[in-house]
Amino acid sequence: MIIFKTAAGLNNYLLNKTSYPQSTGFVPTMGALHPGHLALVEESKKEQGITVASIFINPTQFNDPLDFEKYPVTLEKDIELLERAGCDLLFLPSVAEIYPEGLGSEHQYNIGQLENLLEGFYRPGHFQGVCKVVDRLLGAVNPGHIYLGRKDYQQCSVVKKLLEITNLKTIAHVVDTVREPGGLAMSSRNMRLGASERKQALSIYRQLTMIKEQIGGQPLENLKKKAMRNLLEDGFAKVDYVEIAHPDSLLPVEKVEAGKKLVVLIAAWMNGVRLIDNMEIIP
Ligand code: AMP
Repeated sequence: MIIFKTAAGLNNYLLNKTSYPQSTGFVPTMGALHPGHLALVEESKKEQGITVASIFINPTQFNDPLDFEKYPVTLEKDIELLERAGCDLLFLPSVAEIYPEGLGSEHQYNIGQLENLLEGFYRPGHFQGVCKVVDRLLGAVNPGHIYLGRKDYQQCSVVKKLLEITNLKTIAHVVDTVREPGGLAMSSRNMRLGASERKQALSIYRQLTMIKEQIGGQPLENLKKKAMRNLLEDGFAKVDYVEIAHPDSLLPVEKVEAGKKLVVLIAAWMNGVRLIDNMEIIP
């Protein structure tokens, strides 16, 4: 795997490749890699001629400075994992490379109501930061394809919207969530949980499954309240939301219709760590 710290170096290299840009897959990450990230690399490798990963902890998407400070950094191990996964190139830019004009740019991306719903409501400014960094990373890599994890469901919708509003030709691919045994969605933030907290955190998956099994049998409000109560009883300190939403708009569903896909989304706090997860359901 070749590592590039500048977009110019990366472009120079890619321009000579026949797989570039049509058959080039891009996997953006913030590092602290786990099998969830590597599933994206695998998918890109299966489908594309060249796979480029990036590791960049993007300061503009952290609404909570403490979360940014505590974000795990495991660069040497990440490089080894990417090498082993057969990733071709790694883009490892500095903050100055991505934000040469500083972090305070005024440009706003019009992503509509996705901006203030769910994650957007609880993490003000988060999706503008995501748009900023993905726009710049796509500008640097210019890939034919981008690989995203379904684990960050709303982020997938935001990136698709970004591609639409910026008229970029990059095609988005969404890869299924990789889970630990028991169902906990793999996340870099799980490293901040102890063994017993990880066990307690399995409650998120249990509530998603409970809603999947019981949907249609009782009012949606009751199901959401039951899931919230269970999460709190199982050791979560706070639940930001349990929502049953339309998969495209992410607006709350009012009525369940047979055969119409829904998504259940949960965000909850375990010992100062905010976990999110989701499950698609076809009732
Ligand atoms: P992050 O490093 O958390 O910004 O994640 C980088 C990419 O990996 C995003 O597209 C995430 O949605 C994806 N990802 C993170 N965790 C998982 C997981 N457990 N399964 C699949 N994809 C994931």
